[in-house]
Amino acid sequence: MNNSAPKPYIGRFAPSPSGPLHFGSLIAALGSYLQAKSHQGSWLLRIEDLDPPREVSGAADDILFTLDAFGLHWDGPLVYQSQRLAAYQAVLDDWASQGLTYYCHCSRKMIAEGGGFYTGHCRALGLGPAHAATRLVMTNPVYEFVDQLQGCVKIPRALAEEDFIVRRRDGFYAYNLAVVLDDADAGITEVVRGADLLEPTGRQISLYQKLKAPTPSWLHLPLATLAGNKLSKQNHATALDLNQASRQLYQALAFLGQAPPATLWQEDVTVVLNWAIAHWQLPQVPSTTHIEL
Ligand code: GLU
Ligand code: ZN
Repeated sequence: MNNSAPKPYIGRFAPSPSGPLHFGSLIAALGSYLQAKSHQGSWLLRIEDLDPPREVSGAADDILFTLDAFGLHWDGPLVYQSQRLAAYQAVLDDWASQGLTYYCHCSRKMIAEGGGFYTGHCRALGLGPAHAATRLVMTNPVYEFVDQLQGCVKIPRALAEEDFIVRRRDGFYAYNLAVVLDDADAGITEVVRGADLLEPTGRQISLYQKLKAPTPSWLHLPLATLAGNKLSKQNHATALDLNQASRQLYQALAFLGQAPPATLWQEDVTVVLNWAIAHWQLPQVPSTTHIEL
């Protein structure tokens, strides 16, 4: 008989500090928070400040302040990816010593001209590190995975088989590498985020396999779109309004297919969130990748 207790749920929200949180970010924050809290789990927060050229000064603090104002209090220590660079490099050094990575000098243009996928041009060339990206030899492509909301997700063969970049030519670590090392390190049991990240999930699963780390389950929430475009900091989606926190939580709950009572938005954020935790129904969340607002 197996007496071991079920693994405690550990979820997370991992915003990039490229601007203030907007309604699209609130959906990812709230969805991941409610999955964690309705499983009596913990909800961790990680600031993904991995890409300085895209970061806006003050955005990280602004995100923390906003989450607090919305009553979305995280558990455990806050993690900044910028403080994890040595951990990323240690893994790259280990792979390099096993001959699993190589330097690539191909430009985006060259790859686009060759059909859009990287087919290993530099793999056997023994190129040096100057102005080079680091690629990981793809030994275990992942062609499909099961998403808790989207069902079986297929990944195009050419994409699955690419030797993808783990460290960029400009020296910054790649998102896929950092996100997997961080989530594995934190013992995340389920990743809940926007459906814009469905595609890289296959690569991320292949990294878990390479690291011999347990793979979390995946839940990709629908993205809010305006005139067909996802809300993003890049298209200047309006920042969340701290004076309308309950109303925006209410709207996010409705977006996620929940049925909050009509007067709930007049309550304090704590009341809204407690209602939401107690009544969270994952099967009510629309299993589509995009919803027009
Ligand atoms: N930092 C990413 C973003 O803000 C999310 C990463 C993730 O949830 O895996 O889009
Ligand atoms: Zn190359």
